[in-house]
Amino acid sequence: MKTRAAVLQAIGRPQPYAESRPLVVEELVLDPPGAGEVLVEIKAAGLCHSDLSVINGDRPRPTPMALGHEAAGIVRELGPGVTDLAPGDHVVLVFVPSCGHCVACMEGRPALCEPGAAANVAGNLLSGTKKLRRADGPVHHHMGVSAFAELAVVSRNSCVRIDPELPLEEAALFGCAVLTGVGAVVNTARVVPGQSVAVVGLGGVGLNAVLGARLAGARRIVALDLVDDKLALARQLGATDTFNAGDADCAQTVRDATAGGVDLALEMAGSVKAMELAWQVTRRGGTTVTAGLPHPDHRFPLPQVALVGEERTVKGSYIGSCVPIRDVPRYVELYRQGRLPVDRLLSERVRLDELNEAFDRLASGRTIRQVLVV
Ligand code: ZN
Ligand code: ZN
Repeated sequence: MKTRAAVLQAIGRPQPYAESRPLVVEELVLDPPGAGEVLVEIKAAGLCHSDLSVINGDRPRPTPMALGHEAAGIVRELGPGVTDLAPGDHVVLVFVPSCGHCVACMEGRPALCEPGAAANVAGNLLSGTKKLRRADGPVHHHMGVSAFAELAVVSRNSCVRIDPELPLEEAALFGCAVLTGVGAVVNTARVVPGQSVAVVGLGGVGLNAVLGARLAGARRIVALDLVDDKLALARQLGATDTFNAGDADCAQTVRDATAGGVDLALEMAGSVKAMELAWQVTRRGGTTVTAGLPHPDHRFPLPQVALVGEERTVKGSYIGSCVPIRDVPRYVELYRQGRLPVDRLLSERVRLDELNEAFDRLASGRTIRQVLVV
């Protein structure tokens, strides 16, 4: 069959992308689903900072690659052996397919699945195959999903079935921004009622962390970003205190306002500067969690003595330490009860041929969560 998809031609093209056009919408050949795979009609896909990190080279990946990893759609066809989904089912796509039997999967940590991670780095599906082709050869998959497209063949294990009542534009956000942001608070940091929390970086993931902190009963929710409009939105979503991270004495101001720092600080911007700020606003005995993805060469210098003398903890959080089949339905139910208003983060709807301009907007920091509507 054929599908139209946004294909990343090469990494590291200069901004503005409206001119250098790293993404080109192409008609590709899509092979039918193999064993354990399904064909999904993509209805909506979020534009995430990790897509931008592939485009700008912070997260090097092979090209050509059909981009997009945060999506929702409708199952259209089942490959051999798939018996627990049916055509017509609505699904959220998860960008680490889990094999179910590696050490990480056996420990109940499918986000760390080893074959899943290896397939993602190689640009393959979990089966080790590529389903997308153009005249000059195969096109790589992006994190087993490749959702900036009309159709996608994915591993069955990349799908979580959802309530069909949930609008698919909103459902898409659950695949990355919600899982990562809310999960960092409730699964990784395990915030309990009465604790104080800081969130550094207020994109789609960071604002979901603000929502998660409110849900978890945090007493103080300190939101930090360079853009004042995002601070205002964070206040509407439940932040109790906001500060502009660009102010020279920002860290000291936060420490003064929180009697020496917060119990848990979350770095959600994917930069060493944001991590430094998160570390500086964490109190003695507190925990700093990082969920951003900076360039692999960047280093965060850790004062080792503080780990001992202040009993500090630093933790990484990948996709919110999620178990997708457990967490996606939980978060969807909270959303439907009005307790996790992730629809407030949906800022613009874009079309397949507007992605380059949309990534310029994302790179400028002046948007929250844009969604491609297919
Ligand atoms: Zn993402
Ligand atoms: Zn596994």
